[in-house]
Amino acid sequence: GAIATAEASSPAVEFRNIDIAYGKFVAVRDFSLSIRKGSFVTLLGPSGCGKTTILRSIAGLVDISAGQIMIGGRRVDDVPIYKRNIGLVFQSYALFPHKSVFDNVAFGLKYRNVAKPEISRKVGQALDMVRLPGSEKKLPSQLSGGQQQRIALARAIVFEPQVLLLDEPLSALDANMREEMRVEIKKIQKETGITAIFVTHDQEEALSMSDRIVVMNAGSAEQIGTPEEVYERPATAFVADFLGKANMLSGTVSRSDGPTAVTLASGQTVRVLSPKALAQGSAVTVVVRPQKLSVGGASANRLPGRVVSASYLGGSAIYEVDIGGAANIRANAPIDGRVLTEGETIELGFDPDDCVLLDQAGRRI
Ligand code: ATP
Repeated sequence: GAIATAEASSPAVEFRNIDIAYGKFVAVRDFSLSIRKGSFVTLLGPSGCGKTTILRSIAGLVDISAGQIMIGGRRVDDVPIYKRNIGLVFQSYALFPHKSVFDNVAFGLKYRNVAKPEISRKVGQALDMVRLPGSEKKLPSQLSGGQQQRIALARAIVFEPQVLLLDEPLSALDANMREEMRVEIKKIQKETGITAIFVTHDQEEALSMSDRIVVMNAGSAEQIGTPEEVYERPATAFVADFLGKANMLSGTVSRSDGPTAVTLASGQTVRVLSPKALAQGSAVTVVVRPQKLSVGGASANRLPGRVVSASYLGGSAIYEVDIGGAANIRANAPIDGRVLTEGETIELGFDPDDCVLLDQAGRRI
């Protein structure tokens, strides 16, 4: 009927202008977001920006003080935790240490009064899915950290929840395992078609896993977009800096007829592509990603400088370069022949369309 149709077409989760307060402290302010069914959405931001608080509000673990939360088109503000059909994975695996893998994974099914043969079948399927088939009888202590996190994932998806919430699930793992699990989680999410909401402060995780990223700052969404959008077209100085440590070169528009020219604080003038005409004399910030800067080469803009430090990364190197401005510039350039050394004089280059312009308030022009 009409209700079923409305539910099928409604977003998996929707926040409508929610506020969340801990006593007098407002941790989340006027937050709105619509999450499409089957998508992978990441809340990304520094510690304390309210990511976990938002995630917990979906599960009903914290109360909202204003606004509405809808799950599958239904208001859930008054639906208790145990009636929300939600899978949870935390940073600490939170497995029951004295229960077997089978009992850990079966927990949500038993709780929902699923018949025994069905439980065995579903637990088996979930363990296949996380690539730990046949591990039913093991205890968590007999598994590695990565394997325990896979069990936690199996436990969260086994009852086919409407939404899967992942709160920094990879941060307790070592670097190699983290990368492997990124791919794994993403694959399982695609295969099951489950809607996933992921919390992290790691920009690489966010960029590599998400359909959409919500960049959070001090309790509000600063920008919402695809990984490419938030990385290539940061809406604010905060987003530009948080995602990839962009270079922020302050300057003044020195020519506005024809190609826009900006004279930087360091004295050099660069040509930039501006989406609109800017008045001569207006203060702007030219944002250039370290990866967009070339060393030598034939770019339209060239900034001579001196290498202050060089870090070899394998295929590329990160250089800190003093161009005479207030702050050094970071360039991440492929290694052409040899790694440059401290004290060398070089020329950094970028093209007019390799940068983003911010106005005085730090908003993208
Ligand atoms: P982290 O990555 O460090 O977990 P986060 O972005 O997930 O950070 P939250 O845990 O959501 O941030 O916390 C948001 C703000 O609310 C922080 O300033 C935090 O100190 C505060 N806060 C969180 N939980 C409580 C609580 N139970 N009581 C009081 N204040 C809290």
